[in-house]
Amino acid sequence: MELQDPFCDEGIYRQVFYESDKFIVVYNIHPILPGHSLIISKRHVLQMTELNEEEFIDFAKVLKTVIPKLLKVYGADSYNLSVNSGEKSGAKVFHFHMHIVPRGRVKNFLEGNSEFYETLEEEKSIFKSDSNDIERNLQLLRKAFKYSQKRK
Ligand SMILES: [Zn+2]
Repeated sequence: MELQDPFCDEGIYRQVFYESDKFIVVYNIHPILPGHSLIISKRHVLQMTELNEEEFIDFAKVLKTVIPKLLKVYGADSYNLSVNSGEKSGAKVFHFHMHIVPRGRVKNFLEGNSEFYETLEEEKSIFKSDSNDIERNLQLLRKAFKYSQKRK
């Protein structure tokens, strides 16, 4: 385990809402937009190219399972996937993870509204997140993914 690697810390399991053989999926504790989640390898590797074949197969399955469900939960029709790898990429945690950000969300989807955000700026300007919001999203996702916490 490396110093300051929260993804090798058992504490990360507090944020998990989906788990496969080789990966966990967590709600980001610093979401840029609602639904901003991370797919994290269980094995400590620095970057995607260090994943072995078995892990890549499992990773593909995770993407196929998680993306459609995540979009459904947030009433989104689009998404961004991104990986920051290496110090100059802006990566803050040096343990492989992929960001998933649902996009094209319906405003106040949970309240039954059907109006879409026009631009990313509009969506970001409205979005505020705090620990209550993070907990609420995590519970929403655990319910949608039928996840019951196995570890603390
Ligand atoms: Zn690690």
